Amino acid sequence: MSHQVPESTIRQIAHFIDGREVADASSRHGDVFDPSQGSVAARVALASAADVDAAVAAARRAFPVWSETPALKRARVLFEFKTLLDAHKDEFAALITREHGKVFSDAKGEVTRGIEVVEFACAAPHLLKGQFSDQIGGGIDNFSLRQPLGVVAGITPFNFPFMVPLWMIPVALACGNTFVLKPSERDPSPSLLMAKLLKQAGLPDGVFNVVQGDKVAVDALIEHADVAALSFVGSTPIAEYIYAQGTARGKRVQALGGAKNHLIVMPDADLDQAVDALIGAAYGSAGERCMAISVAVAVGDVADKLIERLVPRIGSLKIGNGMDSGVEMGPLITAAHREKVQGYIEAGIAEGAKLVVDGRKHVASAQARGFFLGGSLFDHVKPGMKIHREEIFGPVLGIVRVPDFASAVELINAHEFGNGVSCYTSDGGVARAFARQIHCGMVGINVPIPVPMAWHSFGGWKRSLFGDAHIYGEEGVRFYTRYKSVMQRWPDSIGKGAEFTMPVAH
Ligand code: NAD
Repeated sequence: MSHQVPESTIRQIAHFIDGREVADASSRHGDVFDPSQGSVAARVALASAADVDAAVAAARRAFPVWSETPALKRARVLFEFKTLLDAHKDEFAALITREHGKVFSDAKGEVTRGIEVVEFACAAPHLLKGQFSDQIGGGIDNFSLRQPLGVVAGITPFNFPFMVPLWMIPVALACGNTFVLKPSERDPSPSLLMAKLLKQAGLPDGVFNVVQGDKVAVDALIEHADVAALSFVGSTPIAEYIYAQGTARGKRVQALGGAKNHLIVMPDADLDQAVDALIGAAYGSAGERCMAISVAVAVGDVADKLIERLVPRIGSLKIGNGMDSGVEMGPLITAAHREKVQGYIEAGIAEGAKLVVDGRKHVASAQARGFFLGGSLFDHVKPGMKIHREEIFGPVLGIVRVPDFASAVELINAHEFGNGVSCYTSDGGVARAFARQIHCGMVGINVPIPVPMAWHSFGGWKRSLFGDAHIYGEEGVRFYTRYKSVMQRWPDSIGKGAEFTMPVAH
């Protein structure tokens, strides 16, 4: 069970349950690193099943009042929350940079994209409007309602510790649900500040709770009978596990998984633009984005021209502490993850791809203490190679050479992932065919990272998403509500006796 946070020399990161911070007394803790220093920066509580139960119980108690609160009043809390988030933008960005490692300007971009979902959810009364059909029979009307599910839970990845939780929380709360968030144990601080600001914004205690933790907490959420729905964002194996386990227990589940995003460069593309796009989308955030571009598909004779331009740019990437101005790429999240990425580089060489730029050389530099890795570039990557099949999630770009547009589409459509994709071209006909033919959820045309705006919805196809609903936007509202159809007739038209035939309009 839980008690108040103890004083300690190393910063402790706690749970937030029923309106207050509580530490885990089960004595399981995880290290949170400062990845640019390679040192432990804080310790995070790892919840037991009892902690999860306390959070779910608080959310369950809070549900009747919150779900009955008019949507307009729920939206006013979210308005206030948005104002507070705006006021704390730099604080959030610094927390993200300190624990994740991405550069401060990129972290600020993440904060902005998260706040946009809160802005969207402020339209709660409009989003929850039902449909109404007057006089469907004599004195009878038919209308629809969207009602909340109850206690819903979110499980989020390390790479967007602010934005991804906000893909879920504002929409779920606007719809009248209460929420338990299990953020990534690698960078848990932003979630705690969010909880405090929601309380300050006027959210009643218990409506939003945070349980820090790992698989133990996730499994407790999956198994908890009072959790009605699970939203998950993370890697594909865990997404599939949560979808299978959650739906087997009758829960509604949306589980967004991993990715292998391709960017086609057509011979008629503006090459300078395409190179800018590849540098930003492959090496930004050290490649730790689910929408990172990790494969450039070079059509016709484009590959050599691309490589000529990419090599000096990769070599001159400014790599360092994300809080230092001018830095373009920070470290990876942990030493273990850097080793995993280096393992992919070794696998690429062993399978016969040509390593044109070797980012491992950077590790020997003065920054060796942090989890830094330079940008790498492979040429002659072939479908079937491990570095093409699997998500690397690091600063490694591979080039696959194909003869024509049709082969590029075929290559991408054959891949198991279908998250984001992009095509650089100056031909409108090619662009249109690409958007229509490609088997991916999010498509960019001369846009490298096509992350949909808050009032659209985000999600991939194939093994990048398990479930029926994409996240946030209109799809989010549908996911977090149950549809109800009501038919009403008033006393003066009742009392005509039993009817044994299917009701039809007269
Ligand atoms: P991850 O799958 O390791 O972890 C995600 C969450 O699941 C974390 O909260 C973690 O604590 C929990 N978890 C980890 N192992 C678990 C297990 N065995 N059982 C139960 N829960 C477990 O992912 P990550 O490394 O934090 O994030 C990177 C991954 O997330 C990448 O694959 C990336 O593509 C993906 N991602 C996808 C999207 C998307 O929208 N599709 C967005 C962001 C990140």
